[in-house]
Amino acid sequence: MSGLLFHLLLTTNCDLKCRYCYGKSCDDMDADFGDFTVDYGVPPEINYDINVLKQFMRKDPQPVLIFYGGEPMLCIDKIRQIMDTVSARQFNIQTNGLHLHQLEPEYVNRFTSIFVSLDGDQKLTDYYRGNGIYKKVTDNLNLIRKNGYTGEIIARMTLMEQTDIYPQIRWLLNNPDHSFSSIHWQLDAGFWKTDFPKRQFKQWVEHSYNPQIQQLVQYWVDQMETSGKVLKLYPLLAVMQSLLLNEQSKLRCGSGWANYSIQTNGTIIPCPAMSGMKDYYLGHIQDAHPLQLKQVFVDQPCSSCTILGECGGRCLYANITKQWTLEQYGLVCKTVQNMVESLKSALPTVNALIENKTISLSDFWHLKYNSCEVIP
Ligand code: SF4
Ligand code: SF4
Repeated sequence: MSGLLFHLLLTTNCDLKCRYCYGKSCDDMDADFGDFTVDYGVPPEINYDINVLKQFMRKDPQPVLIFYGGEPMLCIDKIRQIMDTVSARQFNIQTNGLHLHQLEPEYVNRFTSIFVSLDGDQKLTDYYRGNGIYKKVTDNLNLIRKNGYTGEIIARMTLMEQTDIYPQIRWLLNNPDHSFSSIHWQLDAGFWKTDFPKRQFKQWVEHSYNPQIQQLVQYWVDQMETSGKVLKLYPLLAVMQSLLLNEQSKLRCGSGWANYSIQTNGTIIPCPAMSGMKDYYLGHIQDAHPLQLKQVFVDQPCSSCTILGECGGRCLYANITKQWTLEQYGLVCKTVQNMVESLKSALPTVNALIENKTISLSDFWHLKYNSCEVIP
């Protein structure tokens, strides 16, 4: 396989303390991590020679590089150095958006996609991410647009029980203050060992998230019908494309087979969340070949799931670490099932809209494995 995608983990530090990340990592500090060998020697910041990365990437004729952290823009000099040194088909970044104004337009304008963490409107984003964050991020997005950035800006939402997905997505799509090219969302589910009993996850998915996904699919299809537009809502877009093409999918984020991550010390791992998981180390950029990396796939319960072909397994990290029990994680699988069923119900309408040329199959095109997990 050529043209792989690589997350470059520049730092493990972040300058935000979001509820679903920092807060929970503190709560989980003493939790048992299972039988995995954890490498505590991974440095907090990138410490390998960028020329070694250059040599490694030269063996892949068309790599896509995604700057990732922690917050990658805390290592802004490394971003400049890598973009000046390494040849890539695309550079993308996944960022909290607070430092975009510090990177010169000559670099920002070279990004194909910028993933910005934003959870919805100001009140919700500031609740999850800290007071004043929404305004700083949206000011920066407006600034980069003013400075000539024409690429894709993906609002990357993290969802917990305070989120009503349907109004929040409608708001992100229609707010005149800024416009996102695309939206992606991910449930905070199955990532931490100790959070489930403290949460109202079951009530939320059953009474809020699942019904609102059905509403969202309806709205998405209505927009195709009334305006001829296929809105780039990544989870819907990617799964619907597969249904239209009658394709089964492997793990849709690509981790461990189409998309790999490079730790701060140059060690290669299947997914960015697996930094320090020694049992899954796949080599080092010093001597590995990017096109000959071992592939890692999800195991049970996904491998015998009836909707594996549509879901792809959702998350390799969650599948391996099993932070939630089977019963708890079953609620997450029901959200996948609900989304897939809603999309399957809409399939005849979408097929008809393609046939009568209101929309076209190419409207569903997107760069796969670009850092969107796809299955929320
Ligand atoms: S629905 Fe659940 S069990 Fe089935 S493939 Fe997806 S994550 Fe795995
Ligand atoms: S979905 Fe899971 S496996 Fe994929 S990138 Fe995210 S954490 Fe890693």
